[in-house]
Amino acid sequence: MVPANLQTPQGSQKWRSQRYSASIHRQGLCRDIEISLCHILFRHHPHHRIPLYNARQIGMLDCASSCSMFVYLSISQSMRGSAMKSHVALCRHCNSKLEICLADLGLMPIANDLPDTQNIPERLTPLKVMVCSQCRLAQTVDYKNPDEIFRDDYVYFSSESTSWLEHARRYVDAMIARFDLTPGSRHIEIASNDGYLLQFSKAHGLSALGVEPCGSVADAARAKGIETWQDFFGAELADRIVSSGGPADLVTANNVFAHIPDVNGFASGIRKILKPEGVATIEVQHLLRLMQRNQFDTMYHEHFSYHSLIAASRIFRAAGLRVFDVEELESHGGSIRFFVCRDDADHPISANVDRILQEELDHGLDGDDVYLRFAGQIETLKGHLVDLVTGIRAEGKRIVAYGAPAKGVTLLNYCGIGADMIDFTVDRAPSKQGKFLPGVDIPILHPSAIAESDADFIMILPWNLSDEIIAQVVSASAYRGGFIVPMPTPHVVHALTRQAA
Ligand SMILES: [Zn+2]
Repeated sequence: MVPANLQTPQGSQKWRSQRYSASIHRQGLCRDIEISLCHILFRHHPHHRIPLYNARQIGMLDCASSCSMFVYLSISQSMRGSAMKSHVALCRHCNSKLEICLADLGLMPIANDLPDTQNIPERLTPLKVMVCSQCRLAQTVDYKNPDEIFRDDYVYFSSESTSWLEHARRYVDAMIARFDLTPGSRHIEIASNDGYLLQFSKAHGLSALGVEPCGSVADAARAKGIETWQDFFGAELADRIVSSGGPADLVTANNVFAHIPDVNGFASGIRKILKPEGVATIEVQHLLRLMQRNQFDTMYHEHFSYHSLIAASRIFRAAGLRVFDVEELESHGGSIRFFVCRDDADHPISANVDRILQEELDHGLDGDDVYLRFAGQIETLKGHLVDLVTGIRAEGKRIVAYGAPAKGVTLLNYCGIGADMIDFTVDRAPSKQGKFLPGVDIPILHPSAIAESDADFIMILPWNLSDEIIAQVVSASAYRGGFIVPMPTPHVVHALTRQAA
């Protein structure tokens, strides 16, 4: 029911309603979910933070009068329950029934599926992350097949990030030194993207093989002369790799473990492609840091699981592997690199393993409560960010954004910050320019647009690169306004002082 004093401008509600109903209908969810456009709230209304169970903003309307309006999509709790039952919610690792909800972000567009035009119906899919009470693996509830998410026109090219390239170069140097790799040593990378990392191995004379499911980036790697198999990694592919070129001295899996739904098949594949004393390093975002630093925006459909050492050790052990060292990294807001070998290999266990394990236990990651509290952390952050943005806009100032990462799509959609708040975003990747952030319809432009705009604030969506981006913008343009950094708590950094305010 729309309260009588909060009626929408004529025609607008109908248009939005048809648009989203069509989207839901195409996904076959219309049987399960009752959708009602039930709340239209003035932006300045003090209760605009969605009082309903899991209500989610789905669009913004320009009011005929001076204020803007929100429209919310609400899914009734009872009907939502029936929708969930129609999907399997069993643990990807141990098959236990999933009962602990870490985050329910409602209906979300596929984050890397950037539309070419504004106002087209998005493919909205529920985004819910659960934690297994048995093995403690945090994971999304399945609604899609991976091949619906990772498509040939996947737009993320690793080589487009300068700091990530440097990270890759340092990694290769460190592994060669630590594990005495020599020219001819076999190095396999899983999710090798555009060859951003294997190019450094190749330069050292290692025998490099990439595995990459996305055609566009696999082609880019081949163009650099790096042998690349276009496929999803798992136990079956591991057999073929070993038959074709033998097992590996070094296996690298950076930011891919989370992207593979079959965690057991992935671990078993790693076991198969390792030489008896071979080493695999598996880098993922660390669930401990994600939770401590409120990084719910790193949850999106492409991330099927979120790893702690507690959960990952169980998965590797079940596949005949063991974690003999771990390193903490600042990449992606706090990552962990597992060093894994066959369980019968000689690699001595590092003290880092016990240290991180103890830190996770101290934080409660082997219990239920810490996970159940996370939803409250997310809501608090959302409230702060919405207050900050609406406050700036109320003063008549303009906001643009920097970057078009998947995490920005989750953040803006969940917080309901759209094109009427943020004029545009910019991204260095030519593959993203000219497109739009899905769900919020914010255009993605070339970075030069910042210099030509009269923006007062820039919201940095890839906040993990905020230092690099602020330095870049300040040196490349006359922009001297503020930067909004949304994580770990929303704050403003001023260009001139680069001091947090
Ligand atoms: Zn489990």
